[in-house]
Amino acid sequence: MSDGPARVVVATGNAHKLAEIQAILRDAGLDVELVPMTELGVPSPVEDGDTFQANALIKARACVTATGLPAIADDSGLEVDVLGGEPGVRSARYAGEPADDDRNNAKLVAALAEVPLEQRTARFVCAAAAVTPDGREEVVRGTMEGYIVDEPRGEHGFGYDPHFVSQQADGRTNGELPPAEKDAISHRGVAFRALVERLGSLLS
Ligand code: IMP
Repeated sequence: MSDGPARVVVATGNAHKLAEIQAILRDAGLDVELVPMTELGVPSPVEDGDTFQANALIKARACVTATGLPAIADDSGLEVDVLGGEPGVRSARYAGEPADDDRNNAKLVAALAEVPLEQRTARFVCAAAAVTPDGREEVVRGTMEGYIVDEPRGEHGFGYDPHFVSQQADGRTNGELPPAEKDAISHRGVAFRALVERLGSLLS
């Protein structure tokens, strides 16, 4: 048996998300080897939960069932107040299948065409879950408050980042934030740091 860090499956095939999660956990001092589900051939489960928390648990449980290893997962998305919380849990596929960031952003900007800036409040939400092979589960939630702009800015990040301005970013879009700066304030950063606090011996 090796005494190296515990292997933990991450329920994502999204390289950007994996890199963000890896950096956040490393900075939080969690010594685990993260293995993406795609590397282990875990099929993506149907994410049919009504909430980010439910979907994060669905994904983490599917990884545990398929691999017998502990797993972490996140489910995240954008809630726009004037759109009644849309795109919400459907953020990845807001403009339909297949998931496409450019089409999603175009649909979002079109939906807000008549809406003045002060009514474009929105938040990113992230639920982060951990599940162990013996059935222990944790799920936590993080948010990042901001608003949506028409013109995309910045080359960093992914998804809706070029159109989202965090309240904590001096008018810069998420796309203009270097990765470490985004992690420090992001919904994913907040959620995974809270998850690490709760993990204790869960993954060791
Ligand atoms: P998930 O993979 O089911 O969690 O889908 C998340 C979707 O929400 C992504 O495809 C993006 O469209 C959006 N999203 C979540 N987090 C972020 C973020 O940090 N920046 C930009 N878009 C995000």
